[in-house]
Amino acid sequence: MNILHEFEYFKPGNKKEALELVKKYGNKAKVLAGGTDLVIMMKEKMIKPDYVIDISDLNELKGITYEEGKGAEVYACTKVADIESSEDLKTKYPALAYAASQLGSHQVRVMATMGGNCCHSSPAAETPAPLSALGAKVVIASLEGEREMPIEDFIQGNRRNDLKEGEILYKFKLPEPEKNSACRYGHIGLRDAMEIDCANMAANIQLEDDKETIKKVKLVMGSVAIKPLISKAVPALLEGKKLTEELIEKTGEAAQGEAKPISDVRASAEYRKDVIAALARRLVKEAYEAAKEA
Ligand SMILES: Cc1cc2nc3c(=O)[nH]c(=O)nc-3n(C[C@H](O)[C@H](O)[C@H](O)COP(=O)(O)OP(=O)(O)OC[C@H]3O[C@@H](n4cnc5c(N)ncnc54)[C@H](O)[C@@H]3O)c2cc1C
Repeated sequence: MNILHEFEYFKPGNKKEALELVKKYGNKAKVLAGGTDLVIMMKEKMIKPDYVIDISDLNELKGITYEEGKGAEVYACTKVADIESSEDLKTKYPALAYAASQLGSHQVRVMATMGGNCCHSSPAAETPAPLSALGAKVVIASLEGEREMPIEDFIQGNRRNDLKEGEILYKFKLPEPEKNSACRYGHIGLRDAMEIDCANMAANIQLEDDKETIKKVKLVMGSVAIKPLISKAVPALLEGKKLTEELIEKTGEAAQGEAKPISDVRASAEYRKDVIAALARRLVKEAYEAAKEA
């Protein structure tokens, strides 16, 4: 039966109060943002925190800012629906806004937060791959101060991340996109419904000033390893070259060669490898064409 166990519920009035509670109760407490992962895990008795600290309404943890030349900041409790509809993010970071639009259903997106999506640290999560491809950093807060790190260092494995006792995820920092660059995101699920991805990917390509030669590539794969997998083979293949049909074909093979998916209820490892090849071919082509117009 899906009845929650008994726990003490706190709704701090500001970030400092939240940090005090998080420090006081340590690993006996869980932070609640949108609750779309946490409450399910509690109902299924996968976790039984003694204390739940609800940070969902803290204004200091919500919102999106963008400054030309400096980049964007997205606070951890910003709803995924607000990321999907942000004009600044749609214009400057369309891969992230698009990934947000693909998470669950509208009902889920108005509850769920990007902080929760990354702190839950599921290998199949929607937003870590585009965040990583875009060079995002996370800022972690505690009563002692703040520290920051790239999102790919923050997520360490299936439901594992670098948060220590007494810390919360405060915000994401996105650098200004490079000149002549574009990032694209794609995912494949088994059916066109609320299906967790069987694989996802983001590709960020920067071109030289000739707008044809590839200067830099960052290709990040989701759901094919215990954490987002950053390709080494694709940049080695593409950087310094102009994209051709032959290179697109080889891009698919290179990404496929690096992916280490598992077989589970959603897809076999073989199918996931095919999906990775198809996504890599499509996204590299799309990002390259978009970078020419950037
Ligand atoms: C029907 C359904 C469909 C879904 N579809 C998708 C999908 O397509 N793609 C996808 O990626 N996910 C999907 N999800 C999963 C979920 O909605 C997302 O992972 C969501 O972004 C989690 O955010 P939240 O705010 O609800 O997190 P919560 O459930 O509140 O928290 C999740 C975890 O992160 C911790 N946490 C949250 N915020 C912070 C913080 N600021 N600092 C420290 N710790 C924190 C919590 O303690 C908890 O451990 C789906 C869920 C449901 C129920």
